[in-house]
Amino acid sequence: YHDRDGLIWIDGTLVNWRDVKVHLLTHALHYASSVFEGERAYGGEIFKLTEHSERLVESARILDFEIPYSVAEIDQACRDVIAANKLSDCYVRPIAWRGSEQMGVSAQQAKIHLAVAAWDWGSYFPMEQRLKGIRITNAVYRRPDPACAPSRAKAAGLYMICTIEKHRAERAGYSDALMLDWRGRVAECTGANIFFVKDGVVHTPEADCFLNGITRRTVIDLAKARGITVVERVIMPEELGSFSECFITGTAAEVTPVSEIGEHKYKPGSISETLLNDYMELVKPKKRVAAE
Ligand code: PMP
Repeated sequence: YHDRDGLIWIDGTLVNWRDVKVHLLTHALHYASSVFEGERAYGGEIFKLTEHSERLVESARILDFEIPYSVAEIDQACRDVIAANKLSDCYVRPIAWRGSEQMGVSAQQAKIHLAVAAWDWGSYFPMEQRLKGIRITNAVYRRPDPACAPSRAKAAGLYMICTIEKHRAERAGYSDALMLDWRGRVAECTGANIFFVKDGVVHTPEADCFLNGITRRTVIDLAKARGITVVERVIMPEELGSFSECFITGTAAEVTPVSEIGEHKYKPGSISETLLNDYMELVKPKKRVAAE
């Protein structure tokens, strides 16, 4: 990703993509003191931009640092990056981290940096796979107890086990891995939340130890707007065989049906398809009505 044309916003300035540098002794590289966001723009407009910027600021607070920009300034930086790179449908990646001014576990004096990059990024899962439903395997690592990790933050350190599990899944021919939580309950995938359908009712795990995704909350609202009952509850892996449909949600994954989790098979059915279509309709750029 480093050798390409384009501009990246870093600490308030747009810098040529190839010239953006961070030092080897960056605290975040050694101690995972970084938080980030993943956003998507549709027709040049970032979906739920302010919610993402607010989550970034909150993630930083949870990691005990303050981003030296306001939510409004972060929103504007994201918009500026899209405009500067002449992008329309793209992925946007803001990231904040502790710099290289101090080394060691303690880094009170290290400067807090903020950068935003954006690039074209099509479907997270290939479209033909998405329509058939993706195949998911079971992860080995579990989402940690909130007493052992800052679960509510979108913090780089929480992705260490996600990358291990995503690689393990891909090597075995799967698209993703289902992670349980530390209690053995169904939690989420490596970068997306998970939903199930049984008898016309949508079931999803309570987000009490993993990211309560912006897409997750959006899809719950879309289902309710359709009169579909949504139950947030404890889901045990023993129940996986009792559901008829399964899908995952995330900014990158949008709404992606699942056809298989380990030995359990699902058919992308009418509820997954309805919510996939409703989501795509919601994010679609609205035609601007010309002012009179
Ligand atoms: N869980 C994890 C681990 C994720 O990385 C993501 C993607 N940010 C999500 C859930 C979904 O979050 P959102 O809908 O806000 O993108």
